[in-house]
Amino acid sequence: MSALLSVTGLRLGYGRADVVHGLDLTVTEGRIVSLIGSNGAGKTTILRGLSGLLKPRAGEIRWGGQAGEGTSGGNLPGLDLAGEPAHRIARRGIVQVPEGRQVFANMTVAENLRLGAYRASHAEAARRQQAVVARFPRLGERLSQQAGYLSGGEQQMLAMGRALMAEPKLLLLDEPSMGLAPLIVDEIFSIIAALRAEGRTILLVEQNAGAALAIADDAYVLETGRIRLQGPAAEVARNPEVAAAYLGL
Ligand code: ATP
Repeated sequence: MSALLSVTGLRLGYGRADVVHGLDLTVTEGRIVSLIGSNGAGKTTILRGLSGLLKPRAGEIRWGGQAGEGTSGGNLPGLDLAGEPAHRIARRGIVQVPEGRQVFANMTVAENLRLGAYRASHAEAARRQQAVVARFPRLGERLSQQAGYLSGGEQQMLAMGRALMAEPKLLLLDEPSMGLAPLIVDEIFSIIAALRAEGRTILLVEQNAGAALAIADDAYVLETGRIRLQGPAAEVARNPEVAAAYLGL
């Protein structure tokens, strides 16, 4: 399988402070890549950099998901997305599910889903909604309900469903387990595994390192803006320092 995304030397920050200091990261097609790290390590900042919400200060974001648009400098294949605005990056197929879900509370479930496919025709959006509802039956039962009345787990499903409505090539998930009870976390993670089984590619940012490493193919451990460790997720999980610091073992 080929690299869908290759990040090299990515530097990100706010104001005068750098938060991410030269990130190298690869996301291979069809895999789940977990990025774990403690509070404030820079995980959300990385996702914001990849989705174009935060302009990189340096580095390359090579995207292999779009054939036929040539290369724009550098030695790696693919298109360099660094500096592209968020809406262009989203159109290329990189879609983020933000931390805290950010569903529109006063809109119905169906209306929230429709927003994810705002560029699609009515018929196409209806087709996609059917697929999303097949994946998340609980959303199907609540299509006309206001999103604000959903449980936390259902809101997470809605946020993921809304992202899937865009038919992303790469799904960026920011702390999907945040604030959810353990049983619901299990449910969300089994849905993430099912998405991979469908052939989807996922970059998963999590503070719940145990769950994230258990599900992932590849893993990166971020500490204060630098990758401390990377490799196959099972190997990373066996690393004694990771076990002590992140898995509570
Ligand atoms: P968490 O799990 O708590 O969300 P994180 O690993 O996602 O942590 P980030 O949210 O990326 O971490 O934050 C990394 C650093 O950047 C923190 O020191 C944070 O205070 C800082 N930071 C984040 N957003 C901003 C902002 N908009 N302006 C200034 N500093 C910010």
